[in-house]
Amino acid sequence: TVTLTNIRKSFGSLRIIDDLSLDIADKEFLVLLGPSGCGKTTTMRMIAGLEDPTSGDILIDGARVNDKPARDRDLAMVFQNYGLYPHMTVENNIGYPLKVKGLSWAARQPRIAAAAEKVELGALLQRKPAALSGGQRQRVALARAIVRTPRLFLMDEPLSNLDAKLRTLMRAQLKHLQRELATTTIYVTHDQVEAMTLADRIVIMNKGRIEQQGSPAEVYARPTSTFVAGFIGSPP
Ligand code: ATP
Repeated sequence: TVTLTNIRKSFGSLRIIDDLSLDIADKEFLVLLGPSGCGKTTTMRMIAGLEDPTSGDILIDGARVNDKPARDRDLAMVFQNYGLYPHMTVENNIGYPLKVKGLSWAARQPRIAAAAEKVELGALLQRKPAALSGGQRQRVALARAIVRTPRLFLMDEPLSNLDAKLRTLMRAQLKHLQRELATTTIYVTHDQVEAMTLADRIVIMNKGRIEQQGSPAEVYARPTSTFVAGFIGSPP
């Protein structure tokens, strides 16, 4: 379980997140949805440990992690620009988190193979990122996230660089993978269709606050504000 309690975040005098409280259940696929600038990425970065809240607590499985650096939070991040290492092969990119943990090549190799298999990259292990398509790079980033079975996935617009067709395909693969691994996932997007198809629960943010939350069907059928109705595209 991930718990955010009364989180506030300011940059200088500008308040970006205003008293945000949220519980994310084990195995849940939670989507943070909202317009550009509403504070989704900042929220994610605080959970990841890349940004400190100005006040409020972040708990992972009951333990306060405010002072723990990102590497000690047992989570894997997949971001929009993938963050692959250009000089490394696909297999070394995927295995990098295990190398950092000190695993030998013999211990890494079968886990790399299994992760690559899950995202159908088995034939591309010796390539470098420059020789891959956008969708293939995305799958390398996913394989690198799943290779060490973290407690938590954080994904920030991971599909936004892909064309429409590939995005639809990857969305289905991602959902399938998340179900199979049953790893708690927090996913940021400004795309309502993506939110509707992926989420167990959607949290709609507006100006640093939670505007509404619920299952995709609930927020679509019963928006509690014109902001939500407009953003989700609910029928009038
Ligand atoms: P997008 O969908 O465009 O990525 P977002 O909802 O993820 O938007 P954030 O990236 O969280 O929004 O940014 C929220 C606000 O905080 C924006 O107005 C942004 O300019 C501001 N902001 C983010 N990081 C910083 C920073 N390091 N210093 C100052 N302001 C920042």
